[in-house]
Amino acid sequence: MIKKFIRKILGVKEDGRDPTEPVILGPDQHSIDPRLVSSNAIKVTQTLQDAGFKAFVVGGAVRDLLLGIKPKDFDIATDATPEQVKRLFRRAFIIGRRFQIVHVMFGQDLLEVTTFRGNGSDNAPKDEHGRVLRDNNFGPQHEDAARRDFTINAMYYDPATETVLDYHGGIEDIRAKLLRIIGVPEARYREDPVRMLRVVRFAAKLGFTIEPTTRAPIPVMAPLIDNVPAARVFDEMLKLLLSGHALACLRELRSAGLHHGLLPLLDVVLEQPIGMKFVTLALESTDGRVKAGKGVSPGFLFASLLWHQVLEKWNAYRAAGEAPIPALHLAADDVLDTQTDNLALQRRIATDMRDIWAMQPRFERRTGKAPFKLLEHPRFRAGYDFLLLRCESGELPGEVGEWWTAFYAAEGGEREQLLAAANSRGGRSGGHRSGSGSSSSSVSGDSQAGEGQGGEGQPAKRKRAPRRGPRKSGGGEGAVANAQGGGEE
Ligand code: ATP
Ligand code: MG
Repeated sequence: MIKKFIRKILGVKEDGRDPTEPVILGPDQHSIDPRLVSSNAIKVTQTLQDAGFKAFVVGGAVRDLLLGIKPKDFDIATDATPEQVKRLFRRAFIIGRRFQIVHVMFGQDLLEVTTFRGNGSDNAPKDEHGRVLRDNNFGPQHEDAARRDFTINAMYYDPATETVLDYHGGIEDIRAKLLRIIGVPEARYREDPVRMLRVVRFAAKLGFTIEPTTRAPIPVMAPLIDNVPAARVFDEMLKLLLSGHALACLRELRSAGLHHGLLPLLDVVLEQPIGMKFVTLALESTDGRVKAGKGVSPGFLFASLLWHQVLEKWNAYRAAGEAPIPALHLAADDVLDTQTDNLALQRRIATDMRDIWAMQPRFERRTGKAPFKLLEHPRFRAGYDFLLLRCESGELPGEVGEWWTAFYAAEGGEREQLLAAANSRGGRSGGHRSGSGSSSSSVSGDSQAGEGQGGEGQPAKRKRAPRRGPRKSGGGEGAVANAQGGGEE
């Protein structure tokens, strides 16, 4: 027992492995297909190595390569300082203050080059809850490995020799499909509570199991996430929701005990069975789009996640005597106010959400010029897809969605005929919640494709909080930019 404790303190693993010495696997001992390694990543490691530095592909890219997945981006780790890195590349920029890294650009391709972080960061400034606020202490490679989050994220790949360096048993965990945090779980979550959200995302995305000691403290430590700057939590939520496995992530969050009191948005989504059908349909559609490599609009996604909260408040305002349209705007204000405070919803995302919601009653007016005007709305496609979701979930009669699908596709005079047909049936099709019909329309439109939901957008209410941690300093912008970038079908 005492021996075990001392080993733990010293960081010596149970199997006696020395964490300062990596296990080195040659090309015949791992299954990495070198063709999956981006040529720019090879350029960067090669240039650094030619200049006499160590340089490796690191983190998620190595994990994905070992799993046979083509990495979506490549991070590079080196013993060169940011200044030394910058000097070696034509387009390289040092970014971040609290966590300095170098962005190396090749055309549109961006690689993040990070200098090995060392244990000096044990003395790094922390907040009163133990959260690390800044980390620019460089150190040897084995210390860099120990500062990473999970064993499967702490491996280094050298494209030149095709070798993998594994300090923490990552290879074994990849094979066993296990997510294991490096070090003492409680301490690592305290340093950075976002790791709790990361482990859930990776488990859902990779279909891995969270190793029991890694999992155990999560329900108890979950409230620490409240102390993390809202913008960073939002970025992580966005990554989770846009991972292509959003439904699985939400299930995993619930089972890990992270769903309660974590974020108002999650409370709404996970604890309201009434909206569950709608949310499930929206997330299925989102997951489908991500898996198919199509873009996803964060505005559409959040508008879907919060729709039932809006509906509830809309009904309440109407019951209190407010006219339908102003009642909807009041409801939208209420919902956005709570969420922008807590989630640092970016202004442009919030604007998209409001547009999508505000269009909904207009779909129920099928008389005169109204439907033609609606067709011209710049966000018509998003509003229309949202309408189809409402029909599919049974909130509106399927006939409404079918009519709009026909009207949207129709040409010239056909539209007048459709309008006449609708009017002969009464013009207005039932108000919200008036029907239980379900539509055969599929939610496969373009509206989810990002239409400029900007990474540069400011949070609606808060100033963007600074980021930290041994990670991309611009993770959030990246996540949003990804959502936007893949917009084309
Ligand atoms: P993906 O990009 O697929 O979401 P990833 O593992 O590459 O997964 P990134 O956020 O790109 O995640 O981070 C790159 C690497 O930086 C990680 O693999 C991990 O080694 C390290 N890292 C990122 N965030 C943290 C953190 N909060 N604590 C410790 N290490 C981290
Ligand atoms: Mg990554």
